[in-house]
Amino acid sequence: RRNWKLEFLVMDFAAQIPAVQTGKADMAMGAISVTEERQKQVLFSNDYLVEYIMFLTRKGEAGILNPENQIQNSNSQNSTTWSWALAILILIGGIAVFLIVRKRTSTSTSTPTPQPQPLNPQIPSNSDNSDNSDHSDYSDNSDHSDPSDTPLQNCPPLISISHLKKSFGSLDVLKDINADIRRGEVISIIGPSGTGKSTFLRCLNLLEQPTSGSIVVEGEDIFSKGYPVNMLRMKMGMVFQSFNLFPHKTVLENVMLAPCQLRHEVPAHAHEEGMALLRKVGLADKANDYPSSLSGGQKQRVAIARALAMKPDVILFDEPTSALDPTMVGEVLSVIRQLASEGMTMLIVTHEMKFAHDVSTRIFFMYDGYIHEDGTPQQIFDSPVHSATKAFVQRIRKEVFEIDGPDFDFLSMYSQMHRFCSKYSIEGKRSLIDQAADLMTSAVMRSRYPFTLRLTYSEQSNVVSLDIMKENIAVSPLQFPDIDPQTIDTLSTLSKEIIEEPTTRGFRIKLIL
Ligand code: ADP
Ligand code: MG
Repeated sequence: RRNWKLEFLVMDFAAQIPAVQTGKADMAMGAISVTEERQKQVLFSNDYLVEYIMFLTRKGEAGILNPENQIQNSNSQNSTTWSWALAILILIGGIAVFLIVRKRTSTSTSTPTPQPQPLNPQIPSNSDNSDNSDHSDYSDNSDHSDPSDTPLQNCPPLISISHLKKSFGSLDVLKDINADIRRGEVISIIGPSGTGKSTFLRCLNLLEQPTSGSIVVEGEDIFSKGYPVNMLRMKMGMVFQSFNLFPHKTVLENVMLAPCQLRHEVPAHAHEEGMALLRKVGLADKANDYPSSLSGGQKQRVAIARALAMKPDVILFDEPTSALDPTMVGEVLSVIRQLASEGMTMLIVTHEMKFAHDVSTRIFFMYDGYIHEDGTPQQIFDSPVHSATKAFVQRIRKEVFEIDGPDFDFLSMYSQMHRFCSKYSIEGKRSLIDQAADLMTSAVMRSRYPFTLRLTYSEQSNVVSLDIMKENIAVSPLQFPDIDPQTIDTLSTLSKEIIEEPTTRGFRIKLIL
């Protein structure tokens, strides 16, 4: 608000006081408690900035914390110096006011007053929007036209990510992430655990410092020097698996806190908006309760209201329902679903596949540090291109046996298959699997080691299949002249379908059981 040019340094806790003492930084901001010893070394702000966060600065630099004091104290000093300073201040002030006024004038002639802000510019509002028709940019709420008139693909990206990499020591977690995210998109990020989904979200709002690559938000590179990280976090709300509410504040105070402290909203206004948001998530009657008295589902809805209170451009959800009792998953998902229908831009890491399918405009399947596949829910769930995506979305469970010769431990193989059947509750198929495996291995493959036998079960489609794969052959083993026709008959009666297909390395027979 003072129009200072700021440059931010990130430093360890222990480095804060020495940094301001030595002048490396003019000011530090951190979760630091005020002790007598520390007060001898530096000056502290009178109040907390946010929960537990203090400003501290050099002794003798009270003006940084409180410029009004500086002006009052100055009266005793050399009046000539101060008249000069005052003149310069007035000049600077004049220029600043001039700039602000100019900016105001130019915006007010082209943009309607942006209040109250709708959640998303692309959702048609009830208000008359005929005077907006000539606005072509998508910043703020300048466009209220029907989404079908302005396909998402044609909007400039809200977030543009290229070659994003993140390593923890020698562990390369994000290897090369590239994506453009547009306003109004609801993107579900799915994929096995440990593939970097959380790390990706955390890099987006700089909770994690990426190793390399670029992220451009509304045209600004967020890694550029001096980029205001706090502004970024106001633009990108985040909802965590574990709620992270302040336990000693009421539900309403939790929601009002950030607007009051970071956006400097008037408490009465923040109160009104906080109540409106609580009503939106169905928790207005809990406004004065403490988080400890709420259920997990209610806590998460408060966390969503709190994220919305900052009027973010995008909300990042990291497994918002994973910590919840299954009975409470629905109430949280329906709040997210409502936001999606209002056009809120969201990135949602989730394991709720049906929800992801229904609510998303786009799905990222993350695998092994990459966005392995990116497409509409129909593409990803119904016709995935990559086998890893297919295995994940169809929840394909598999057990693989490399049968290298006659000494292979077939008994152990059968008992592993039986365990597989009981683990995935497909005992009904157990004898079928036994018979088919026995026929396949003995009659078809016994003389042709090595080969691979794979038992798979798709939880999604409830299909069990048995594959035999043999490398370095070009024809189906079922076509070999020494195969007993009786065997083929029996296999046909056991299976719903037999698929014979060449692979990149040999040939596969797939029995659908
Ligand atoms: P996901 O959310 O897809 O389950 P994460 O992004 O949490 O995956 O983690 C990806 C990998 O990065 C994991 O192997 C995890 O152990 C590792 N990892 C995450 N955060 C850190 C960290 N701060 N330090 C070291 N390793 C980490
Ligand atoms: Mg995670």
